[in-house]
Amino acid sequence: MPELPEVETVVRGLRGPLAGRTIVSVAYDWPNCLVTPDGPRFTARIAGQPVRGITRRGKYILIALNPDTLIIHLKMTGRLYVTPDSSTDEADRWVHFTFQLDNAHQLRFSDARKFGRVYLVEDPAQVVGALGPEPLDDAFTLEAFCARLAGRAGLLKPLLLNQAFIAGLGNIYADEALFAAGLHPLRRADSLAEEEIARLHAAIRATLAAGIAREGASVNWYRKPDGTRGSAQVALSVYGRGGQPCPRCGQPIARAVIGGRSTHYCPACQAR
Ligand SMILES: [Zn+2]
Repeated sequence: MPELPEVETVVRGLRGPLAGRTIVSVAYDWPNCLVTPDGPRFTARIAGQPVRGITRRGKYILIALNPDTLIIHLKMTGRLYVTPDSSTDEADRWVHFTFQLDNAHQLRFSDARKFGRVYLVEDPAQVVGALGPEPLDDAFTLEAFCARLAGRAGLLKPLLLNQAFIAGLGNIYADEALFAAGLHPLRRADSLAEEEIARLHAAIRATLAAGIAREGASVNWYRKPDGTRGSAQVALSVYGRGGQPCPRCGQPIARAVIGGRSTHYCPACQAR
């Protein structure tokens, strides 16, 4: 699933093509992806709304219109791209939403598995209001992270995946951040020393920033809006590398299922 660096890259790639545009109409063939409002209100309401800006919150893409906000979650296999009306793309066969723009271009939402989600809301807080802090925001200081951790007794890996605790991390960057911090994914949050909390805080930010610098990890479906791959996958230390040597110590990377999610770590560098 695309995580914060992938979604951020998509947002950055859509800003140019969508700047100053107006959504003329929408066509869709998979209503299950549309969470709110109902279909007739969706098509009637979005028509004619201008694009005011595009931002990200956690793993959600927020396209600010006027007066509403179009919110899209890519989930497993979602791709968003802007293309001339007449152009075809290899991802077109999974397009389930086509937003017609006012310049003979279309914003297409392709989603092979159809797990993606589309919302049109007056107040984005209806969708993203319960998310935890943005880990790359200036406000996400070590002190703020310590305060959020206080009283948390859960295991580190599931806690990092909890979008209400911290927004944007998924399986890839949670594993990478724990490796960078030298922390075992099964450590309890309330077992961390101050110095370990500081390492984890720094590792989360550094790992996500590096992922953005590499324009995301194209480990499976993720592509940038221009159809090309990010390169973060070539720099991963542990994720997807079970049995291969740890880049730090050479021991085989271990794989375990924690909280129902595949987890990769180095048993030596991330001792319990
Ligand atoms: Zn190691």
